[in-house]
Amino acid sequence: MNKKISLLFVILSAISIIGYILFDFPLLLLLFFPPLLFRNKTEKPRCKYCSYLLLDNWKYCPQCSNSTDT
Ligand SMILES: [Zn+2]
Repeated sequence: MNKKISLLFVILSAISIIGYILFDFPLLLLLFFPPLLFRNKTEKPRCKYCSYLLLDNWKYCPQCSNSTDT
């Protein structure tokens, strides 16, 4: 009987830990990813009109067909 209650407690604590990780994970992503996103924005060229991600050899944006020359 006592063993059953302790097992239930272990399961409940495991569920709460998993829930804690799952709910904290987006917050951690928000904390750690904005610097990465900003760094990617500066490294990769984007269309200045529609912010479409461009390759280096593209002269025109495929989305809004504006020139990519700055
Ligand atoms: Zn564009």
